[in-house]
Amino acid sequence: MANPVKKCISCGVPLTEPQDTSFSCPGCGKTKIGRCTHCRIQSANYLCTECGFEGP
Ligand SMILES: [Zn+2]
Ligand SMILES: [Zn+2]
Repeated sequence: MANPVKKCISCGVPLTEPQDTSFSCPGCGKTKIGRCTHCRIQSANYLCTECGFEGP
C-alpha cells in the first residue's frame, strides 16, 4: 500500500502535524481533505476531487 502523502488541498504544501488538519470530505466521506493552518485561517476554498464538494 502506498504511503499517503498528506497535502493541503488548497495550496498543496505538505501538512505538518499537529497544527494542520485533515478530515474526510463532508460530501462523499471518501476523500481526505487536508488543510494547512494558513488556509484554515484564511478560510480558503477547497474542492473535493471525488464528488465536487466545495468548502469550507
Ligand atoms: Zn494551504
Ligand atoms: Zn467528496
